[in-house]
Amino acid sequence: MSSNIFKIPTRMVSIIAVEVVSSSDPLSIRADIRPLQREQIHPEVAAPSDTLPHVYCIVRARLPTPFGADMYLHLYKNEIDDKEHLAMVFGKSIVSASLNHQRPDDTELSRLKRGAVNHIPNFAQDASADTLWTPQSPNAQRGSEAPLVRVHSECFTGETSWSLRCDCGDQLDTAARRIVTSPSGSGAIVYLRQEGRGIGLANKLRAYNLQDQGADTVQANEYLGLPVDGRTFGVATAILCDLGLGGQPGIRLMTNNPDKVASIAGPRNQIHVQEVCPMPPSACRKGGEGSLSNELMAYLQTKVQKLGHSIEM
Ligand SMILES: [Zn+2]
Repeated sequence: MSSNIFKIPTRMVSIIAVEVVSSSDPLSIRADIRPLQREQIHPEVAAPSDTLPHVYCIVRARLPTPFGADMYLHLYKNEIDDKEHLAMVFGKSIVSASLNHQRPDDTELSRLKRGAVNHIPNFAQDASADTLWTPQSPNAQRGSEAPLVRVHSECFTGETSWSLRCDCGDQLDTAARRIVTSPSGSGAIVYLRQEGRGIGLANKLRAYNLQDQGADTVQANEYLGLPVDGRTFGVATAILCDLGLGGQPGIRLMTNNPDKVASIAGPRNQIHVQEVCPMPPSACRKGGEGSLSNELMAYLQTKVQKLGHSIEM
């Protein structure tokens, strides 16, 4: 930890240290990880690679969105944590292999309930044609265009609580709008449940309190004795493989973070990142609305200067 970049009263440091290491404070303890046992992963579903986590889509459902297109929300289980990681898929051509795999105990109803098919003759007489979907030609209609993809880490504060300390909500909206308006209208946002660059919501809020005392987003994590960036992306790579987005033509990855590109590609380059598409804040884009607050500007500058992000502001 550098001592000359951010001066914090000694008394505050000691209080923080007790708070973080105290075993009596349940909020200071990292989430208990209870991995799925291998047998809980469907035995018929092969992992995309021995070096990637096993992932398994347990349910998919259609959600109408304000972006002018339906989104197909895929909920995943995996073998390394008990979190419900998600894939937000636009377009009907991107299909989960694990969801649609025929299972020994499959019935038409069980497949309907998990979203493997969404129409059984005479089951719902009023089902409209627009909501019907059958995985008859998985991944066949996407064409040669590399779909837009974002791998997005959960940010309750920025996406649900309207916080302008970061640009996460803006990036999530932008990613969805870009996918929907792309020529194919197909793409995916993998939504990983790793709040606060992996430190969790409670520690993230502690870090915000330090930022209000003058620390930047990197220094705050350092003073808490936590990783500056504790995220991992193996689950995201495995989900993209499950969605048929490995290999050619590759993906166009929406990110400002060069380090994320190599992580998403996977240990054996399972994902071909054909193009990296920058995500400048909407206020900085041509015709963009609003302006950057001083807090958001400072946050973004720290990401550029200390975390190697490339952001056009
Ligand atoms: Zn955020």
